[in-house]
Amino acid sequence: MIDFNRPAMVGKELEYIADAVRRGALCGDGYYSKQCSRWMKERYHAGHAMLTTSCTHALEMAAYLVDIQPGDEVIMPSYTFVSTADAFVLRGARIVFTDIRPDTLNLDEKKVEAAITPRTRAIVPVHYAGVACEMDTIMDIAAAFRLKVVEDAAQGVESEYKGKPLGTIGDFGCFSFHETKNYTMGEGGALLFHDDSMLERAEILREKGTDRSRFFRGQVDKYRWVDYGSSYLPSELNAAYLYAQLEEHDKINEKRLSLWKLYHDSFLDLEESGLVSRPVIPEGCRHNAHMYYLKAKDLEERTRLIGWLREKGIYSVFHYVPLHSSPAGQKFGYFSGEDRYTTRESERLIRLPMFYDLKPEEALYIIDAVHAFYA
Ligand SMILES: *Cc1c(COP(=O)(O)O)cnc(C)c1O
Repeated sequence: MIDFNRPAMVGKELEYIADAVRRGALCGDGYYSKQCSRWMKERYHAGHAMLTTSCTHALEMAAYLVDIQPGDEVIMPSYTFVSTADAFVLRGARIVFTDIRPDTLNLDEKKVEAAITPRTRAIVPVHYAGVACEMDTIMDIAAAFRLKVVEDAAQGVESEYKGKPLGTIGDFGCFSFHETKNYTMGEGGALLFHDDSMLERAEILREKGTDRSRFFRGQVDKYRWVDYGSSYLPSELNAAYLYAQLEEHDKINEKRLSLWKLYHDSFLDLEESGLVSRPVIPEGCRHNAHMYYLKAKDLEERTRLIGWLREKGIYSVFHYVPLHSSPAGQKFGYFSGEDRYTTRESERLIRLPMFYDLKPEEALYIIDAVHAFYA
């Protein structure tokens, strides 16, 4: 059986975990957490990069820091993971779902303006499959209407838009280091932002509402409960695993990109015969091979293809059920405009196995199985 995903182990993960244990402090913000933050700050030229317990939690922090109030509206694609919406719903927001582009399956920037009302506070572009949204247009709209932009870059670590790392273009960027993502710590994430004036509130929020971070820097002589907060610090054990992966980011990225290219080149003939659609990478976008997907003719054909591959020992999966069609999506939000592509494209999409340890011969076996289905 070829799995859909397996978490990567590239080298020093276990050594660093053992070292974290030897250092004798397993809670958050120790040596390895600091190494990971420093690495992200330097590599992505991010003003601030805080390791969190998940991308969901990074999104929750962002929703709090942009000061979402009950009744405020937040614009996002319906074709996304539940956490993108959950984080804002927790603060009482109403979610305004917009349609996606059929090429990248990202938020259609041309539909954003029509979704804005006097209650709109933020736009949340989701960089699907690690391929950037049309950020120039989104940032221009946000500036014109004084809206905040929170990038859901869960899948976009090491991807770029016009030379800028994803997660560093909007007011806040959220990464995921979940086991299914390119770089992992089991469960984990990060919050990135530039604005220094947000730093203190972010630290307090992340540290249970206390000024513990200032205390450790010697800026106050005792730490106290000063505001609302939660606990968003991952353990050092997780951070140690992640740091070993960040150090080998090129190795992971190159391997994934070569598998992606193998799939992509091999399915050109099926696309030219009009049987499937392949992913599109727009001009100016550098992606990270987070995912390889194909689009079949329709739901019925996709269901048969998934079953066909399963019989051949290949585990392929579909992806998001559009949020606006789910019970919570109907309760907490509404779809703005026409659902031209969201439902249709989501029903056609099939994701093929894509992970660091996938062997080229396994990928070739999968490629042959897909060709046999269409023969
Ligand atoms: C994985 C993912 C998340 C959630 O990440 P966690 O780290 O599991 O909380 C959020 N948004 C998108 C688009 C994702 O792919």
